Amino acid sequence: MFETREEVLQRVLEMEKPKCPYCSQEMQIWEVPPINFSDGLGWGSPFMFLCVNDDCPLYKEGWDHLMENYAQTASYRCCNSPGSKNFEVMPVFSSQGGMGQLIDNETLLAEEQLKESIKRGFNLLSECYVSKDGPAVLHILMDVTEPIRVRVKAAEMIGDIGELEAIEPIRNLRVGNELLQKELDGAVKKIHKRFYTRECPFCAEIIKRRAKVCKHCGSDVAGK
Ligand SMILES: [Zn+2]
Ligand SMILES: [Zn+2]
Repeated sequence: MFETREEVLQRVLEMEKPKCPYCSQEMQIWEVPPINFSDGLGWGSPFMFLCVNDDCPLYKEGWDHLMENYAQTASYRCCNSPGSKNFEVMPVFSSQGGMGQLIDNETLLAEEQLKESIKRGFNLLSECYVSKDGPAVLHILMDVTEPIRVRVKAAEMIGDIGELEAIEPIRNLRVGNELLQKELDGAVKKIHKRFYTRECPFCAEIIKRRAKVCKHCGSDVAGK
């Protein structure tokens, strides 16, 4: 069964945090880095439990051990793959080693807030959809503070309920997100389809699909 990163995180969040077998301290959720440290087999999970206790004997003694035996400034931290009974050690090369991706409360709060604003945005959008409130959907679509997923949804909707007036602001939107841009282009196409219109290839004004001469610039647009 394929799980998205969010689904795995959700599942790991619900688990009881294991205690480090070396120091008995509660381990923390840690997002694995994009690189592997040893056998190239991968981490097995996008999130692991990690002992981040700097007084953990494994970690404290690791520095001396590795220095004496391998002349390496490094140590170990204990990690555990969520759901497994195996505790493994991984090398770290500074006190911050392995700490970069620690899922701390701040990260969790940010994820929580993002989830909340996505939920709020989706609720708002479905209300707009029911009441066929195109301008409100357009407003959400233009709002750069809305999560990208909400704006993508708004773009999808504006194609279904937007008026011709929505085309100009959509065309003028500058977005860096490829998916959103694709939805915007699709929305304009859908609106034109519903109104039997198109844009004049010469002056970009909206004209009837069947028009032979542009009523705005007078260009011959038959078959163009
Ligand atoms: Zn420990
Ligand atoms: Zn024209």
